[in-house]
Amino acid sequence: MFGKGILRGLGITARHLLETYIDDVKRIPSRYAYDRRLIKQPVEERGIFTIQYPEEKRVLPENFRYIPMLIFDDTTGEDRCTSCGICAKVCPPQCIWILREEDEKGKPIPRPAEFYIDISICMGCGFCAEFCPFDAIKMNHDYEIAVYRRFPDLVLNKDELSVPASYYAQLYPTAWAEEEKRREEERKKKEARAKAAAARKALAAKKKAASQKAEAQDGETS
Ligand code: SF4
Ligand code: SF4
Repeated sequence: MFGKGILRGLGITARHLLETYIDDVKRIPSRYAYDRRLIKQPVEERGIFTIQYPEEKRVLPENFRYIPMLIFDDTTGEDRCTSCGICAKVCPPQCIWILREEDEKGKPIPRPAEFYIDISICMGCGFCAEFCPFDAIKMNHDYEIAVYRRFPDLVLNKDELSVPASYYAQLYPTAWAEEEKRREEERKKKEARAKAAAARKALAAKKKAASQKAEAQDGETS
């Protein structure tokens, strides 16, 4: 029928318009937080919703990911990264470069001397964060990184990529809690293994001392 497509299109627009009001009614007052400057818009919402960016911003879900960040310890300032290079190997567009630190004799130190990510190439896949065995690289939520020049402004160095662990804990509270629990379990296991090894060593030393004593006594009697 002539005009059927137009009617169908108008129907879709009308449905979205209606759903927007239904979503609003369902979410008020929780959709608007902090005096409408931060907006919660869960993925299950169906209505069309205009955000007056940059005055208004969406509250980002924990698993939102933009570009990677490198984690360092708040208290010691030590990088978690050991410059193992796994992230650089798994990165699909190959936009990570790492230079490992060396001592004065040229012996490698497990620490990055330099670490670069070309974020004009990075596609935010999160592979680097998933494969890092040291929880040293995670995905940042900061998307306001517009610059005038692509190069060198979008090739971020170690300082520009580094954030304290507390920043990561704040962005990813659930993941942080899980990782802390896992680290605590690993620490306990390590302690238990060290204790068992020390006990085995002490027992072996005791046995050795006893056999030496017995040999000495045999020597004296013969
Ligand atoms: S960020 Fe992780 S995977 Fe990448 S080099 Fe550092 S420790 Fe290895
Ligand atoms: S997020 Fe993906 S593309 Fe970006 S640096 Fe990590 S692995 Fe590479």
